[in-house]
Amino acid sequence: MSHQVTSSPRKGADSPPVVVYEDVRKMYGEFVALDGVTVQVNKGEVMCLIGPSGSGKSTLLRCTNALEEINGGKILFDGKALPKSEPEMRKIRRRMGMVFQNFELFPHKNALENVATGPITVLGMAPEQARQRALVLLEKVGLSDKAQNFPANLSGGQQQRVAIARALAMEPEVMLFDEPTSALDPETIGEVLSVMKRLADEGMTMVVVTHEMAFARQVANWVVVFDHGKVVEQGTPEQVFEHPTQARTRDFLGHIGWHA
Ligand code: ADP
Repeated sequence: MSHQVTSSPRKGADSPPVVVYEDVRKMYGEFVALDGVTVQVNKGEVMCLIGPSGSGKSTLLRCTNALEEINGGKILFDGKALPKSEPEMRKIRRRMGMVFQNFELFPHKNALENVATGPITVLGMAPEQARQRALVLLEKVGLSDKAQNFPANLSGGQQQRVAIARALAMEPEVMLFDEPTSALDPETIGEVLSVMKRLADEGMTMVVVTHEMAFARQVANWVVVFDHGKVVEQGTPEQVFEHPTQARTRDFLGHIGWHA
C-alpha cells in the first residue's frame, strides 16, 4: 500500500547537521540500551524523541553530551566525533544546554545567581555583566519578578524555566531536554512548553525527550520513535502521527491514546 505525503524538504537540510548519530550502541552490562541508532539533528530544528518508557530516549541524550560513554558507533557534534578526554569533552558540554527532568538548580543560590553563575565561573564573564544578562534571560522565560527567589520558593514550572534560562546563559548551539515536564504539576506544564515553543520559534536547535504528544505534534520538525533501543520510525510530525508506517509506532500511539 502506498501513501502519498506531500512534504517540503526537512528543516535545516541546507546546513551541515548539528549532531549526527551513526549506528550508536550503548550497553549497561549485558543489557542493550541503544541498538544501532542512526539519526541526525539539523540546524534550527526541534527533534522530539518519543516511544515507550525504557526504550533508550534519555540514554541517547545522555550519550550526546557524554554523561554516558557509547560502546559502538559514532556521535558527531558540529562535524567532529565527540572527544574522549574529559577536559576536551567539558569544552563541548559548554556548547550544549541540558535541561533535566528534576531541574537540578543550585538550591543555595537564588534564580538570578543560578543563571549568572555559569557565565562567571566557566566563561569568565564579568559578574555585573553576567547578572544583567541573567535578568534579561529571566525576563525571557517570564520570571523577572522572581530573580531573588530561591528554588525552594518557586513552583516546579518556575524552577524549570530558571533551568532553561540557566542553560541559555551559556549560549549553547543545541539544547537537550530530558523529559522537561514529566516532574511538573499539570497546571505548570503549559508555561514550560510555551517557553520551549518560543525558543523553537527563535530558531534554537533542540532535542526533546517528551511524553507531551501534542507538543511533539505541533512544535517538532522531526519526530523519532524509539522502541527497545532502536529507532522504529522517523519523519515529520505529520508523517509519524497521522500516517505511521510501522505497527510498533501505531501500537505506541494507540497505547497512549493518541488519535490521528
Ligand atoms: P527512556 O528514556 O526511553 O525511558 P532510558 O534511556 O532511560 O529510557 O533507559 C533505557 C533502558 O536502559 C531502560 O531499560 C533502563 O532501565 C536502562 N538503563 C538506563 N540507565 C541505566 C543504568 N545507569 N544502568 C543500567 N540500566 C540503565
